[in-house]
Amino acid sequence: MTEFERMAQLLLPDIDKTPEYYENLYPARNLSEGARVVRIAPSPTGYLHLGTLFAALVNRITATSTNGIFFTRIEDTDKKREIEGGIEDIIDGLNRFGITIDEGFVSGTTEKGEYGPYQQSKRAEIYQTFVKDLIAKGLAYPCFCTAEELEQVRENQEKNKIRTGYHGEYARHRNITVDEAEKLIREGKSYVIRLKSPGNEENRITFEDGIKGKIEMPENDEDFVLLKSDGIPTYHFAHAVDDHLMHTTHVIRGDEWISSVPKHIQLFRLLGFKAPKYAHVAPIMKLDNGAKRKISKRKDPEAAVRFFAEQGYESENVIEYLMTIAASDFEDWRRANPDASYKTFKFNLKKMSVSGALFDENKLLDVSKNRIARLKSHEVYEKLCDWAKEFDGEFYEILTKNPDFTKSMLAIDRDDSAKPRKDLAKWNEARDFYAYFFNELYENSYELPENIGGADAVEFLNKYLGIYNPSDDRQEWFGRIKELAPTLGFAAETKEYKANPDAYKGSAGDLSTILRIAITGRRNTPDLCSIMQVLGTDECTKRINDAINSIKR
Ligand code: GLU
Repeated sequence: MTEFERMAQLLLPDIDKTPEYYENLYPARNLSEGARVVRIAPSPTGYLHLGTLFAALVNRITATSTNGIFFTRIEDTDKKREIEGGIEDIIDGLNRFGITIDEGFVSGTTEKGEYGPYQQSKRAEIYQTFVKDLIAKGLAYPCFCTAEELEQVRENQEKNKIRTGYHGEYARHRNITVDEAEKLIREGKSYVIRLKSPGNEENRITFEDGIKGKIEMPENDEDFVLLKSDGIPTYHFAHAVDDHLMHTTHVIRGDEWISSVPKHIQLFRLLGFKAPKYAHVAPIMKLDNGAKRKISKRKDPEAAVRFFAEQGYESENVIEYLMTIAASDFEDWRRANPDASYKTFKFNLKKMSVSGALFDENKLLDVSKNRIARLKSHEVYEKLCDWAKEFDGEFYEILTKNPDFTKSMLAIDRDDSAKPRKDLAKWNEARDFYAYFFNELYENSYELPENIGGADAVEFLNKYLGIYNPSDDRQEWFGRIKELAPTLGFAAETKEYKANPDAYKGSAGDLSTILRIAITGRRNTPDLCSIMQVLGTDECTKRINDAINSIKR
């Protein structure tokens, strides 16, 4: 036994497997040429946030575009920061957004696939096997420095303007002997395992980032920690071991990891693994008083994906919007393929923003509006009721009291329209938008436009009651108002009125506004003739009479 092998045996006596054992257990995947194996590795330390959803989408669509695999792996090595139900929240959240997971955690409690366990806290023995091998090769060693000692070194480095960190001559236990280690362990001293970095700060490494292009950085010379004192790996080490054994081909992750790439590439090399391709996704940004900044979990409600559900954004519309910020060529594709699933879009990492795409809620509203305008009334009914059931129970009761009525309301300017009206973008707008259809919500303060006098309005409404025919179609409906116009001093045609404004009180259009206000309390609504048909003759007559009695003359 060499000195290094003795060290390995001293530190990890219970580990009896070898790296080869795991290499055989997790053979290469049988996939077609060009298939990419990608993953997200969320930590269950909080709710599903926009950045994770975005990363999941980019990974998912990468796998889909190449007939590859998208898997999830739970990074739960920091038990102190873990929250209860964290895994469920993230995985169920992804499922709700239609992000299909091929392998790994497919629900909060189920994992699937041949490369597991997919939860780092269950993989301790695997990490320790690989660490033991590194120690036996003289590439890793135990470090007994306490937090205070490390802090002291750092302070000295700062004082002397030396690059901080555990490197070179500051790597105090780099050459520790087995006997020394044994003695310290016997004294009950705790220790971590560090990599013995062969790197040199003066050397540069380069790599090709799938999104950002060629990147050059100094080689890593830091003896960074592989296993913490509790035997749990650091992110760096778990990343290398897991992505190797799970045969990840492309690591697509947040760009906060870019500065760690030299460590990762070095680790892959020392472990004898082929490094994956890296692609670093810039964070989603937001404009704050004219300045671009990262979306913050602390400051921005939309950072929590729950926000979108609460507001009543359809999850597929959020995904549609995220696709527009993920790929600069997505909107052109969408114009050419209005009905296709986004899943058939050929995604290319190179089309991603290098510096961070801007999250623009107005754009999201716009995308959502366009998508909702494409739905039929029965689909809107289902989705709206699903949302209301969860987030607005009172409105849900109102909507479902008479489903046929609600569906006819939703059909207005939608089902038979060649160009459906673009109005709702999210379901929490519906209550106000449709309020006048429901007596529980309807209010009317009969505010007329300035150019219309109360007495004229009442006169019109009185006459209108006499000619109102609920079976009129749109044209007949407006035809009657036009016929009435000259008898009230209003022009039948807007043109006439415009040409000679002093000769008239207004136009037939103004009369229909009076009627609109009488029936709905609003100046702007979908097609009024259809609204009146849905409300029915009795209700319309009642509302017109109420208006006659309420409008001040
Ligand atoms: N747990 C890491 C994170 O959430 C994973 C990064 C990775 O994808 O490798 O940032």
